[in-house]
Amino acid sequence: MKTVLTNCVVVDCTGNPPMKGMSITIEDDRITELRTGESTSSTGDAERVLDLEGGYVLPGLWDVHAHLGDLIPDPKFLLETESPIDYAIRAGRNAMDALRAGFTGIRVVGEDHYADFAWKRAFDAGVFVGPRIFACGRALSITGGHGHGTLGAVEVDGPYEMRKAVREQLKHGADQIKLMVTGGVMTAGEGMDESQFLMDEIEAACEAAHQKGKRVCVHAWGAAGVKAAIRGGVDTVEHGLLDDEAVEMMVKNGVFYVPTLNGTQDEEQILGSGLPDFMVEKALGSAKAHLEGFRKALKAGVKIACGADTSTVAHYTLSEIEHLTKAGMTEMETLVAATRTSADLCGVVNQLGTIEKGKLADLIVLSANPLENISNVRKVKIVFKGGNLVDISPQEGLGDFWELFY
Ligand SMILES: [Zn+2]
Repeated sequence: MKTVLTNCVVVDCTGNPPMKGMSITIEDDRITELRTGESTSSTGDAERVLDLEGGYVLPGLWDVHAHLGDLIPDPKFLLETESPIDYAIRAGRNAMDALRAGFTGIRVVGEDHYADFAWKRAFDAGVFVGPRIFACGRALSITGGHGHGTLGAVEVDGPYEMRKAVREQLKHGADQIKLMVTGGVMTAGEGMDESQFLMDEIEAACEAAHQKGKRVCVHAWGAAGVKAAIRGGVDTVEHGLLDDEAVEMMVKNGVFYVPTLNGTQDEEQILGSGLPDFMVEKALGSAKAHLEGFRKALKAGVKIACGADTSTVAHYTLSEIEHLTKAGMTEMETLVAATRTSADLCGVVNQLGTIEKGKLADLIVLSANPLENISNVRKVKIVFKGGNLVDISPQEGLGDFWELFY
């Protein structure tokens, strides 16, 4: 199939300024040409020519901190009462809704029942049309540590158990390994600053994962835990109450940062969320340090990617994109975080994450300029994944995710 998109503004997310009056040729799953103006030679034999009427073409968006089956809060207690199959169906619906909103890439960082691997296989094979999934399988925590009892977290103690648990995820097809190295918001009886995994455990995880060419990402709030994780060899840090030394270490070691800002910065959402008081207190209590650490990382040039850490993926990742700008990124920096840097974090930036000749054609078309107002990322008109046009029209009879599950 050959498609030509004409009359568009290309925001390629390589760092180039936007290019007006462009045409893009897509052949099968790849971008084969980018040119100024319309070219009759390229539209002549195209099966599909779409006049984008001055629309803005960007690479598909990414959420690199997702939990597809999770519900925060969970007023119907579904996570306690439903079957693994019910859970898996919701996870898939969440992912497919995200694709329709423009999210063509999702990294799943802790999922129960290996549902992430199943959906990845289903989407890759074309059983359903969904985003590209990069999956960690079950997250690993210490016994009684952060996230235990949720999202299938495996409780692991000592380097031997760690090697076994990491290899278990790799056996099932993990693209990355997820460790919980400090306390966090959602688990009772622990502080955000509390370090959990010990150095020999972190090192064992990194050694076993890196041996297979896979990266390790860590849930880490307290700066001491962040630094321990980096010393242990991890590749990406999630959340983070970063201090100067942590930022310096991230720059020096090329460690990625996924701040998940909406988890502490969206006060209105947090207060109205129905979460228990202890979670609200922890989230809002760390808001200032979180924002300050983010700004330090931004200033120092840490590689920052975009992840929302809550469901639905579409709703909260669009909100995360707005928070990144509100917290100090330019609109262009925000778009690069949500595209190129996120693809880079997943190890696929040579194929995805920007609009360049030869890359896979994962693209979105917006009806308004996101560089003027970042909220224009919500104005998605067209989504392509791998050169295929995704049906984003409202489906009659399809229930609303919020009404179904919240
Ligand atoms: Zn998370």
